[in-house]
Amino acid sequence: MEILKYPDPFLRTRTKKLEQITNGVIERVREMFETMYKAHGVGLAATQIGWDARVFIKNITGKPEGEEVHINPVIVEKSGDYADEEGCLSLPSLRGKIERSEEVLLRSMGIDGEAQEVRHKNLAARAVQHEIDHLDGMLFIHRLRPADRVLMRGALRDLERKYKARPEQDSPS
Ligand SMILES: [Zn+2]
Repeated sequence: MEILKYPDPFLRTRTKKLEQITNGVIERVREMFETMYKAHGVGLAATQIGWDARVFIKNITGKPEGEEVHINPVIVEKSGDYADEEGCLSLPSLRGKIERSEEVLLRSMGIDGEAQEVRHKNLAARAVQHEIDHLDGMLFIHRLRPADRVLMRGALRDLERKYKARPEQDSPS
């Protein structure tokens, strides 16, 4: 399993609700964890492996009991705002300061098909918002302040050259 890198156009896909947890889904999620650990990430969204389903995984601690699978996730409450640096496995070596909510209440389905509602704070809340953005076809560079985005232009061009896809068509709003 390979992690798609910017500017792969698939990263702009808005994913669809996952209707059924089949054995194929369970298998794929297992493989997503292996791929994420190999890349030393703390979160990975389906979009990043070319899958158009509303699924993301995360593990902030790196321990087996820290593994979380979120299917059809929705943020039902959020509070506080703070800016901090974040990176992305699809944007190797880039980091940007992004404003996120400090605390979110996330409703989703686990890999067992059970509904779950968990409160996430700080880094965990940041990861949740970052991964849900992926499921909406959005990368952290689309949330940069305009001046920061300008500063990152050269680095983005380097990635565009390295990963050879067409440069992105849209501009930040
Ligand atoms: Zn990411």
